Amino acid sequence: MHIVALQAFRDNYIWMIHDTRSAVVVDPGDAAPVMAALAPGGAQAQGLQLAGILVTHHHPDHTGGIAALLQRWRVPVWGPAAEDIAGVTEAVADGDRVRIAAPRLDLEVLEVPGHTLGHVAYHAPQAGLLLCGDTLFSAGCGRLFEGTAQQMLHSLDRLGALPGDTRVLCAHEYTVSNLQFARHVEPANADTEEYERWCLQRRAQQLPTLPSSVQRELRVNPFLRSDQPLVREQLTQHFGRAPADRVEAFAMLRQWKNDF
Ligand code: ZN
Ligand code: FE
Repeated sequence: MHIVALQAFRDNYIWMIHDTRSAVVVDPGDAAPVMAALAPGGAQAQGLQLAGILVTHHHPDHTGGIAALLQRWRVPVWGPAAEDIAGVTEAVADGDRVRIAAPRLDLEVLEVPGHTLGHVAYHAPQAGLLLCGDTLFSAGCGRLFEGTAQQMLHSLDRLGALPGDTRVLCAHEYTVSNLQFARHVEPANADTEEYERWCLQRRAQQLPTLPSSVQRELRVNPFLRSDQPLVREQLTQHFGRAPADRVEAFAMLRQWKNDF
């Protein structure tokens, strides 16, 4: 099984998972890069069949290419039942299973509200993959457009509890700018410093910093670390008062990042 990050717009990734014949794409905001990757001479010399589309949430940079792909390929489109997304044929909710024969993928649906209210993530336990859309980014998390800090914290708690070696396929290349904030919040975190060096090298070569992994995110992502005593201390210093509980600590951290 192969995993390819197709670039779209300024900083979106459309993840394509494929075997030698067929492919699944995640959050196709634009059909053009998907069409190019499926065509002969794209990801495979003989070309690939599109087998299905997975959608995490309703934002146009994740859904804008669905209609054009469906004109060319008649395939199932999985997407959150709680959101109204044109083209979705298989509405999914928390705990649902998605089984795809080729490329072989068994996925579990996790509802992860926060960025949007119906946002879902797809976890493939056997393949060790997490498709998390705009919920978890490397060294960051999505903005709270629709949900509350409490919802997002709970969503991130769930993702952070997945096996450490799970590869994390986020929908945006935001890592380097996220790390600037992460280093500001945790200046003494050696893992963050080392990771930033590696990410800067990758970007200098125009290579993705993703996939990340759950275990790396637990070490470098301040939004998975708002319970850490040093992070709480920094919050207290920055806001001039201590967070009352972990939800407030998370909310303060998200606010700080918004204003950073
Ligand atoms: Zn979004
Ligand atoms: Fe997005």
